[in-house]
Amino acid sequence: MVRILNYINGELIPAVSGEWLDNYNPAEGRVYSQIPDSNEKDIEEAVTSAKKAFPSWSTMPMSERSDILLKIAEGIDREFEALAKAESDDNGKPLKLAKTIDIPRASANMRFFATAILHFESQAHQTDQLAVNYTTRTPLGVVGCISPWNLPLYLFTWKIAPALAAGCTVVAKPSELTPMTAYLFSKICKEAGLPAGVLNIVHGLGSKAGQAIIEHPEIVGISFTGGTTTGKRIAATAAPMFKKLSLELGGKNPNIIFADCDFEQAVSTSIYSSFSNQGEICLCGSRILVERSVYDRFVEEFIKRTKKLSVGDPADEETRVGALVSEEHMNKVLSYIELAKAEGGKVMSGGERVVVRGRCEMGYFVAPTIILGLNQQCRTNQEEIFGPVVTIMPFDTEEEVIEFANSTAFGLSATIWTENLKKAHRVSHQLKSGIIWVNCWLLRDLRTPFGGMKQSGVGREGGWEALRFFTEQKNICIKL
Ligand code: NDP
Repeated sequence: MVRILNYINGELIPAVSGEWLDNYNPAEGRVYSQIPDSNEKDIEEAVTSAKKAFPSWSTMPMSERSDILLKIAEGIDREFEALAKAESDDNGKPLKLAKTIDIPRASANMRFFATAILHFESQAHQTDQLAVNYTTRTPLGVVGCISPWNLPLYLFTWKIAPALAAGCTVVAKPSELTPMTAYLFSKICKEAGLPAGVLNIVHGLGSKAGQAIIEHPEIVGISFTGGTTTGKRIAATAAPMFKKLSLELGGKNPNIIFADCDFEQAVSTSIYSSFSNQGEICLCGSRILVERSVYDRFVEEFIKRTKKLSVGDPADEETRVGALVSEEHMNKVLSYIELAKAEGGKVMSGGERVVVRGRCEMGYFVAPTIILGLNQQCRTNQEEIFGPVVTIMPFDTEEEVIEFANSTAFGLSATIWTENLKKAHRVSHQLKSGIIWVNCWLLRDLRTPFGGMKQSGVGREGGWEALRFFTEQKNICIKL
């Protein structure tokens, strides 16, 4: 059985404890590899090596840092097939999705920040005839990057790429549930000539290895993507230590369908935004709000197409919905379906576990589920389920749908479907979400700021925001 190793000081090594954790393939429901059960001793080694590497990495000419990061991107492209398979084996997602989203976007992250750093600007201000000010930006130091299991390599590189480009050295932890691509990535970094200690990848449990990263006094910045509850805990630990924090957390995103939309586009993209990656994307539109005059038509068409989605073996080209990431998560999703029923919801499609024949007989599959008849305030409509479950509700007026859309504690993303340009702007301005998509979903331009409002997070990632996060500003004022 494959044993995944930590990547510390340029070496691939087991945990200090010598202990291992099982890694499951969720589509098969069986252990297929093991990961090091790292603890604070491994984090200590990783921080020591990151500290040692910092002086030379942070002062290396940007063009040289950029070249190394581009070589890593090339390595991702070269290992495309193996990475896509690992992403699918670890997470349960359709292999096709890993090939079209996860791995290409991981490579794009490396390329984007490798070149963005070459164009990163500083500022200068002249104060009348009195003084000239200029602002420098220097790498923050040793930083921690912690990522979740839903888009493993994509979100891992989303943090690591800007941190390395900015000149920081990194201690990173992927989710314990999806470690394989991070392991393959560490081999790619070695081959690309990334100097020892610049990036250290430590595997293990969030509560042990992850917590040790957050608590370590010499890790001065934390970039975290994950659940809101974990985010609160991280903030509680890191804030009194005055660490710089970026938190990308959960979502309960509204998908608003106005009657004057392009109906075909709205339905087909809504299927995608509801059930892609088994609904395990923080940006999925899990609350569909439909203007009453097209509600019946939308519901009928949406149910019809959802029933056609094939749930099955992630390796099969035809599969659109794969396995959920773990048995525990599957049970959580199923318990929310039961809750929805108890709250008066009517399950119109799905609502249960699916048994897939063949090698996936023991896998954690749930049918895409549509629930009608719930009010906005019930728990099903307020809490993040993070699975292939959507609710559909009618609305009558623009004011009403804005109130519904803003009624949760989250504020990550929202989607609006309308052909009326003024309405699109008007509603977008009133929604309390960090990202609004109009007549599209998941379209990303890496230069734009990314992040949530309210309990969906603190700070912005993406583009210059990420490079700013990983650098420290200083203003120098010289009297003329
Ligand atoms: P978790 O919050 O459970 O875990 C995220 C990461 O944090 C994992 O690597 C986890 O390790 C680690 N972790 C857990 N506890 C601690 C701790 N005490 N200290 C430090 N690290 C810790 O999230 P999930 O992995 O379950 O991911 C799903 C969540 O992520 C959803 O809520 C989703 O909305 C959110 N998300 C947000 C995105 C955004 O951009 N806003 C994007 C994608 C997902 P381990 O897995 O080993 O426990």
